[in-house]
Amino acid sequence: MLVVMKAQATAEEIQAVCDHIVQLGFRPHPLPGAQRTAIGITGNQGEVNRGNLESLSGVAEVIRVSKAYKLASRDVREEDTVIRFSNGASIGGRDLAVIAGPCSIESREQAFAIAEQVAAAGAQFFRGGAYKPRTSPYAFQGLGLEGLKILSEVREKFGMRIVTEALDTETLDLVAEWADVIQIGARNMQNFSLLRKAGRLRKPVLIKRGMSATLEEFLMAAEYVMSEGNYEVILCERGVRTFSDHARNTLDLSIVPALKHVSHLPILVDPSHGTGRRDSVLPMARAGIAAGADGLIVEVHNHPEVAVSDGPQSLYPAQFATMMNEIEQIAPIVGRNLARGVAASVAVKE
Ligand code: PEP
Ligand code: MN
Repeated sequence: MLVVMKAQATAEEIQAVCDHIVQLGFRPHPLPGAQRTAIGITGNQGEVNRGNLESLSGVAEVIRVSKAYKLASRDVREEDTVIRFSNGASIGGRDLAVIAGPCSIESREQAFAIAEQVAAAGAQFFRGGAYKPRTSPYAFQGLGLEGLKILSEVREKFGMRIVTEALDTETLDLVAEWADVIQIGARNMQNFSLLRKAGRLRKPVLIKRGMSATLEEFLMAAEYVMSEGNYEVILCERGVRTFSDHARNTLDLSIVPALKHVSHLPILVDPSHGTGRRDSVLPMARAGIAAGADGLIVEVHNHPEVAVSDGPQSLYPAQFATMMNEIEQIAPIVGRNLARGVAASVAVKE
């Protein structure tokens, strides 16, 4: 159910409706919009008696949200969600967000060398795994806390905000302490206890699409986080499994407009995991922006031939600079703008 408040409803009226919902034994989710506030109701098994709610002061109407996902739906919030960061960057607005960095944090030297170059090219967010989901238990699993500390030094030095993965509920709080955006990986998209716990934090959560997740399953993962009161959710298309044997995954760009149609949440595209091939990353990055994505998450490495993970799909820093210049030109065609960080060099070297 969704309570739509009148445009001129006061803060007191909104609070009174929320209190009433709590009294009924449900959970209110007030989501302010440009025109009016809508209050999502969760926790109800069946129909909420709408009569009482409709008679409360300031209420315009009470509507049933028919889709399985509610808080993630555009029915609840008409305008796009924009997540703002203290360095002036944002995800979901007119400005495109670019998250760049290595697959794994390998050492302080490696992280700093890559950070310097992606910051110079204008990245406002730095990525890198400290806890890695690896297919083999014998493969490099990440530097753990040491990796998180390196990431935080990168934030201090280059001003980029940090995106890093939380692999499990045990380490989630630690990751949340050091990161600006908590990444939940494709393999964990339906780890419901992890999603719920991330929903109790007050930090943006980036959810990568599961390898065979439908649009509805993807949005239900977001719904798990939002149902706990954390509305700062970012979606990321990173490719799905198909019969295709020319790429690691099939980057399903058609989900971008489909998601935009039904949800207000930002959607990023990951052309690195989406293709697995360095030579495909730039074309699919261009295509992702052209398709209407709110930004990109891209793997970049200064020595990809010796990277401990995902070297074959990592761009060289110069290729990343080229990518930034190209998407900057595509952006205005789709009504967007490429925002570059403060650390960006005046003359971007390629
Ligand atoms: C990653 O971003 O390095 C990663 C492991 O991504 P995914 O969960 O999409 O495989
Ligand atoms: Mn990777």
